[in-house]
Amino acid sequence: MYESHERFNKATLNVSTKPVHFKPRIFVKQKQRAMKTVDKIYVNGEFVTPRGTEIFDLINPADNTRIGMVRLGNEEDTRMAISAAADAFVSYSQTTKEQRLHYLQKMYDAVEKRKDELTAVMVQEYGGTLQFCRMSTLNMLNGISGAMETLRTFDFERTVSKSQVRLEALGVVGIITPWNASNSFICNKLSTALAAGCTAVIKPSEMSALQTQVLTECLHEAGLPNGVFNIVNGLGHTVGAEITRHPGVAKISFTGSTITGKTIARGAVDTMKRVTLELGGKSPNIILDDAVLEKAIPLAVVAGFMNSGQACIAGTRILVHEDQLDRVKTLLKDAVENVQVGHPALETTAVGPMVSKKQYERVQQYIRLGVEEGADLLIGGIGHPDGLEQGNFVKPTVFVNVNNKMRIAREEIFGPVLSVITYKTEDEAIRIANDTDYGLQAYVSSGDDARAHRVAAQINAGRVLINGLHHDPLAPFGGFKQSGIGREFGVYGLEEYLETKAIIV
Ligand code: NDP
Repeated sequence: MYESHERFNKATLNVSTKPVHFKPRIFVKQKQRAMKTVDKIYVNGEFVTPRGTEIFDLINPADNTRIGMVRLGNEEDTRMAISAAADAFVSYSQTTKEQRLHYLQKMYDAVEKRKDELTAVMVQEYGGTLQFCRMSTLNMLNGISGAMETLRTFDFERTVSKSQVRLEALGVVGIITPWNASNSFICNKLSTALAAGCTAVIKPSEMSALQTQVLTECLHEAGLPNGVFNIVNGLGHTVGAEITRHPGVAKISFTGSTITGKTIARGAVDTMKRVTLELGGKSPNIILDDAVLEKAIPLAVVAGFMNSGQACIAGTRILVHEDQLDRVKTLLKDAVENVQVGHPALETTAVGPMVSKKQYERVQQYIRLGVEEGADLLIGGIGHPDGLEQGNFVKPTVFVNVNNKMRIAREEIFGPVLSVITYKTEDEAIRIANDTDYGLQAYVSSGDDARAHRVAAQINAGRVLINGLHHDPLAPFGGFKQSGIGREFGVYGLEEYLETKAIIV
């Protein structure tokens, strides 16, 4: 069942600059980790005590024990970080390609050296499964090596008609990230910004402070010029809002919910900041009637429950032909019964706890809502799985007889809850797939390649995956409609950090 995850891993490994080997078990080390206090932010090349004094508790989602505390920065800390980034931009924006590649390589090496620790701390603080956190650490490295690969052949000067066109670094970039793959988002966004010649102020989710701390130590060791990157732990409505309103920030790269993305976009317009927004999703998974169901259904379960369902790209709407519903129900039940829910540090765990009690409650509310709306529970339901009452564990849940108008089919649940919707014809499947406010990623399974491509071409989504969970770290990633604005990764991602200037003689 995890064959497809393995393939996903292998695909992401392809662009590493060095082979990456993980130690097989990290649980024991992690159990011995003492309670930790993060009381510094990172400004102008130094770990400094923030002006902000608010303390936020860090809770292990697997058992709800307190594992640490973080002292949060405030607006003044944010302004200091922006000022350091602005000063650094003056010289960093003038660096050559070779200098930037040198810094990115140092960043890669420093992260690679501590990859096992980065994985372990993510498992402990976020509750991501070991399988997922390993992949997320690989994605950190691939984000950096991908930025290097793109930079090597990128033309910052071009000729268009009779004019010279220069692509110039935008300035200071605000990077605002959520908790569901915190360090991997930071590494991808920061390395692309640095490749472009920008400098950065980063505001991670405060729930990721232990993960951020290890990454910051890696980045510090990489020896980048002072002020080129700055990291301020803090809340969205203080640090995030200051980054959004500050005239010294030229662009924001954000990953998170659509509602917060809209707040940032509204705030950014006053200073005409550029924005790249990677927001929510409600991805359709169209299983065409000629697909091999024995392959497509287990794959649909992996696509739906990836990152314990806390993924914007999760395939949460499974579209099946109405004549195949009975067979699909049997296969789905079998596949979900075999999904191991449990401690995230165990090798075999496929679904771990939700990141917080709040997120657990949110998912419970959606399961209740599904029942109230008249959908049928095929498997799962409200409450904790047996024996996992201490943590934020949810029963992997599948609803059948779902109508695409129901809220469980329209809203991002961000937990392991899937909806099965039937269609009569291929055209109806495409119509249902596109009948959503979102458009981030979609999945198509078919026994006929040409048919799968024909269907993929009609889906309104930034990425469409055919017959598998393939990943291409240099292909553009981003959303149609309310899934966002702009693209990340590869050439399309790099261009988002550049301003275009024409020199006409
Ligand atoms: P948010 O979108 O609110 O948080 C993402 C980041 O934005 C965090 O760092 C947050 O800080 C920051 N932020 C919040 N408000 C502002 C603001 N006004 N200005 C600037 N930055 C801000 O996600 P939540 O953590 O609240 O999760 C809620 C739901 O969002 C989830 O249930 C899920 O549906 C969706 N989500 C989607 C993600 C995706 O990958 N597309 C990722 C995470 C969540 P702080 O943590 O302090 O609020």
